[in-house]
Amino acid sequence: MTRPNKHYKELKDSYLFYNIAQKTKAYLEKHPSEHLYRLGIGDVSLPLCGAVIKALHEAVDDQAETETFHGYMPECGAPFLREAIRDHYAKRGIELDTEEIFVSSGASDELGDILDMFSEDNTVLVIEPAYPAYVDANIIAGHKIIHLPSGEGDGFIPMPTSDIKADIIYICSPNNPTGAVFSREQLKVWIDFANQNGAVILFDAAYEAFIEERDIPHSIFELDGARSCAVEICSLSKTAGFTGTRCGYTIIPKELERDGMRFNSMWVRNRTTKTNGVSYIIQRGAAAVFTPEGQEQIHKNIAVYKRNAACIMRALDQLGIWYCGGKNAPYIWMKCPDGMGSWEFFDYLLKEAQIVGTPGEGFGACGEGYFRFSSFGNPEDTEEAARRMIKLLGR
Ligand code: PLP
Repeated sequence: MTRPNKHYKELKDSYLFYNIAQKTKAYLEKHPSEHLYRLGIGDVSLPLCGAVIKALHEAVDDQAETETFHGYMPECGAPFLREAIRDHYAKRGIELDTEEIFVSSGASDELGDILDMFSEDNTVLVIEPAYPAYVDANIIAGHKIIHLPSGEGDGFIPMPTSDIKADIIYICSPNNPTGAVFSREQLKVWIDFANQNGAVILFDAAYEAFIEERDIPHSIFELDGARSCAVEICSLSKTAGFTGTRCGYTIIPKELERDGMRFNSMWVRNRTTKTNGVSYIIQRGAAAVFTPEGQEQIHKNIAVYKRNAACIMRALDQLGIWYCGGKNAPYIWMKCPDGMGSWEFFDYLLKEAQIVGTPGEGFGACGEGYFRFSSFGNPEDTEEAARRMIKLLGR
């Protein structure tokens, strides 16, 4: 008899966004004329930039002529895109071989698929609060999971301790949901820890383009020792508005190996077996992100989101509410006022100010009592939400 993967039974219902949608729907049914100020979304709201649109159109035209038509693409990525990414890293002083860059359909796909390279008896460390996919993908893979809580005391950036026994370590910086970022020194401690213990760090850099402080690392490979312990997973979703267009990339250094097995070669074998590459048209659009025009245009869009973040931060400053994030990240993580629970504060904000955010408890137990605001919404709504928050919570 067929035996399904029993680990699916261990998955908890992903109630976070479902619950938010249900509560919001119920509120609107009762108050059909109300406008909601949506600061909960993790999706972008601005369209693709001009350089990307132009490249996409040109690539579509290429597909119309025999001379320029492209069929199957190389499984690990088109040379033109791998070279563009290599050159982008070189500007930050990081030397990569194009064969260390794997073009993907986005970070979510990679975060799950990459676990194919690790055997079932690995123990995984997830720093919480965390992007929920880390836990779920590892439950499906049958890995033992250790949850490492973080909090206000450590600024939501916990450090390793000698009692942690983990083979795979997830680090997300800038972090979703807390917006916290690892400094060079903090990241180096984790790199040394991973190298000393033979662990592999899966570094999620989905929000690196939001870093504005000069000394915060955009890539784990800016630091010594990372090439022997880290895989970096990147996405153009938030960097360049590719959430619906789908493209990302993953960096696997050639020297990363455990037990005599090289992860770079394993991933080539995996991709050539399990994918036929990302579409030519999408890869052309992605390559345009790395041109000077593309870079200028995506940073103009990011600046819009940053103004939204600044607006929310000003309101929280005025209210004297503790928060982190917002500066190098599109998320602001605030402490719920008056000791309210995450869902209690969600209901209160929705009912009293028509603002929708994300309860921190949905990102792990230590997120209880905190709340996430996203800066990806529309600027007018963000400003009005900030005004309403000051009025409501300043009483
Ligand atoms: N990693 C983090 C931390 C995210 O927040 C997200 C999306 O919200 C992703 C990865 C997934 O990105 P992608 O759209 O490339 O699948």
